[in-house]
Amino acid sequence: MAYAAPMLSSPVAASRRNPLGIHSFVWVGGWDRQQCEYAVASTSAAGYDLVEVSGMQPGAIDIAHTRDTLQAAGLASTVTLGLPVSGDINSEDPTRIERGRKILMDALDLTSGIGSDFLGGVIFGALNKYDVPTTDAARQNSAAVIRELAQEASKRGVRIGLEFVNRYESNLLNTVQQTLDYIDVVGEPNVYVHADVYHMNIEERNFRDPLLACGDRLGYIHIGESNRGYLGTGTIDFDEVFDALIEMGYAGAVTFESFSSRIVDDQLAVALCVWRDLWEDSMDLAVHARAFIEQRLGA
Ligand code: MN
Repeated sequence: MAYAAPMLSSPVAASRRNPLGIHSFVWVGGWDRQQCEYAVASTSAAGYDLVEVSGMQPGAIDIAHTRDTLQAAGLASTVTLGLPVSGDINSEDPTRIERGRKILMDALDLTSGIGSDFLGGVIFGALNKYDVPTTDAARQNSAAVIRELAQEASKRGVRIGLEFVNRYESNLLNTVQQTLDYIDVVGEPNVYVHADVYHMNIEERNFRDPLLACGDRLGYIHIGESNRGYLGTGTIDFDEVFDALIEMGYAGAVTFESFSSRIVDDQLAVALCVWRDLWEDSMDLAVHARAFIEQRLGA
């Protein structure tokens, strides 16, 4: 009698490995057909499972071509974006809110269209340095749009991630706790925390407590250094970060994010204040980051 093959859903297999992702801006500054093919091939060659596609201009992307290219490479994907000021749903301006709502619905079309199940980023408001605090009305307006987005996403099997960012990039969500409170206001089960240790390093007291506070509400995490360059060349305590992820049994995607003025999308580079070269060689950076992350995840 033959032994049954081990089931893939056994706890050991399930905890074996998080999908490892990489932001497309390590490879390319845009997403035309050629850039898509180059980014997908490079992501696979560097040993990642997933590529994060920028949805800053969702209408400019050839959805069918991207879906086919990803499928042929056997690569998973996510979509992220930061809303522009002109589409700020964290606002009391109906024109901006409607424009933002349209951008998010287009980004959802892109997400499900390329076969992805995750739409994240700074989608709850503008990715921008505000010169005033938010208001209760603006926060409610933002939550109402995210609620509508989440309900539509749910029909397509897409999860929504809210990437809280540092105080210079949003006046609405800067910490895990603010994000969890906001998720309660939205009240939809497919809305998750999208963490980023670069931002946590600025705003949180440590990494472990807020990550554990997320529990199963943590849906996605960006791994980036304090200088947004090579992992290990800055001040972030990655042992604490990865120990917390292991302790909480996080099984979701872990995505490396890094920016250099070597490769930029003009809109995002300005929003993120990418003014200098942190690296030159994308492949060297990517391979180094994968080894760094795998070693700490014990993969
Ligand atoms: Mn990020």
